Parts: sequence; C-alpha cells; structure tokens
Amino acid sequence: MDYNEAKSTLSARKVKPTANRIIIYKVLSEATHPVSLTDLEIAIGTIDKASIFRTLTMFADHDLVHAFMDGSKSMKYELCVAGVHTIGDMHAHFYCEKCLKTYCLEDVRVPQANLPEGFTAHDVNYVVKGICPDCQGKL
Ligand SMILES: [Zn+2]
Ligand SMILES: [Zn+2]
Ligand SMILES: [Zn+2]
Repeated sequence: MDYNEAKSTLSARKVKPTANRIIIYKVLSEATHPVSLTDLEIAIGTIDKASIFRTLTMFADHDLVHAFMDGSKSMKYELCVAGVHTIGDMHAHFYCEKCLKTYCLEDVRVPQANLPEGFTAHDVNYVVKGICPDCQGKL
C-alpha cells in the first residue's frame, strides 16, 4: 500500500489522515505478521512510542485494526482488511511457543460463541498455541 492509498483509506474510514497516522497505517499494511507496539517503533524509527500507541488505540476505536493478546507479553495489532469490521471477519491466530511469532490463520474462522439473549459480540480473541512449521524441524 502506498502513501496515497493509506491516506484515502483513512479518510474513507472517517479518520483525519495526519502524516503520523498515514505512516503507521502504511507500515501495518506491509507487516506479514501481527505486530507489537515495540515492533512498530523499531520499524518506523521516527515516531515516538506514545504517539504510536495513541494512534493504535484510535485505529482500534475506529475498527481499522484488530488488537489482541496472543500469549506474548504485548498486545498485537493487524489491519482489519474488511471495509467495515464485523465479528465475522475475525480469523484465528497461531502463537508459536518456540520462536514467539504470531501467525494469521486467515482460513480458520473463529468459532461462533452461542451467546445468551441480550449479548452482542463485537470482538473475539482466538489464539491457538503450539509449534510452527519453521520450528518443527528444530525441536
Ligand atoms: Zn475486522
Ligand atoms: Zn516457531
Ligand atoms: Zn491475523
């Protein structure tokens, strides 16, 4: 995703496209795995951690990102690629206990919880833990 594409996506999602927000959105769009705040700080280099955190929180409020705990000590973030976020676009994640990487399992849908009447789901966190293919051979 280039700068202008990131900018128009933010505008379309009713987020004022400031320079920092565009950069953070662009870096998220290029990530191959869900990233932590620290990963983003290192990847960007020019924006301080507090500003990145504020932006991520704001993106989460606008449903631009999925924020979830994966079993590592930090929250992980990824772009929500659906035009409008619904619980149906959530996929499962796999956390490798050996290399500590989190994988997106795009084809693994999150099982629907059978909620009692009156409860409406907005977000769900489904993480499978184990050993990834890269680490299998190194056990
Ligand atoms: Zn989503
Ligand atoms: Zn691994
Ligand atoms: Zn994912």
